[in-house]
Amino acid sequence: MMEYQELADRVKAVRERMAGAAARAGRKPGDILLCAACKAQPGDKVRAAAHTDIDLFGENRAQEMRDNLQAGAYLDVPVHFIGNLQTNKVRQVVGRAAVIHSVDRGRLLDAIAREAAAQGLVQDILIQVNLAGEQSKAGVAPAELRPLLERAAGHEALRVRGLMAIPPQTDTQEEARPYFAMLRDLFEQAISWRLTGQRWDTLSMGMSDSFEAAILEGATLVRVGRHIFGDRPG
Ligand SMILES: *Cc1c(COP(=O)(O)O)cnc(C)c1O
Repeated sequence: MMEYQELADRVKAVRERMAGAAARAGRKPGDILLCAACKAQPGDKVRAAAHTDIDLFGENRAQEMRDNLQAGAYLDVPVHFIGNLQTNKVRQVVGRAAVIHSVDRGRLLDAIAREAAAQGLVQDILIQVNLAGEQSKAGVAPAELRPLLERAAGHEALRVRGLMAIPPQTDTQEEARPYFAMLRDLFEQAISWRLTGQRWDTLSMGMSDSFEAAILEGATLVRVGRHIFGDRPG
């Protein structure tokens, strides 16, 4: 299968760059998960990617995730939800996505908790932070992180695993580093608050054009789309 080999080679190249960045940072490559961001990719390409050396898939749209799940396209690879989530789509995502990365407001948090409780499970989530106050982007303002975590701590059906961010676009990876450092600092601060206790182990940051800088600043999960799948269709 031609498509498989090409995807496998691209994933291998990303893995090598991840390992290089990890080595520069004195970190173990195995401590950083590779999430294949597969938005808008056809199901057969997703299925081919499931055979490559990725750790998980990241989906942006509830409908695409449902279609791919129904088609069995992920095989046994876990899927995380990384896109903006509307409250009315929560039911389609809770219990299907292993982790929801994009929780950024109280009402969404409450809706996820309610659905998780109804399904009798504990949903793993990350809080998405808007590092630079960009109007066009989702995410909670850094100053609002603590109240949001206090609210999350009140829900037994939620387990906060860490933070996620999509920093402003920069021309070079070097320019992105201060944003990643800012998220790592917030992550460490939030751990010290000991609000949600359990298992803070995930710092989700870095995409195709910035994953090495993110790894240098402590990312434990990078979300890579174009470097694996090529340019998005459509
Ligand atoms: C699309 C997307 C990515 C991957 O972006 P690329 O630039 O294609 O690597 C990562 N995270 C989120 C939330 C995305 O929507």
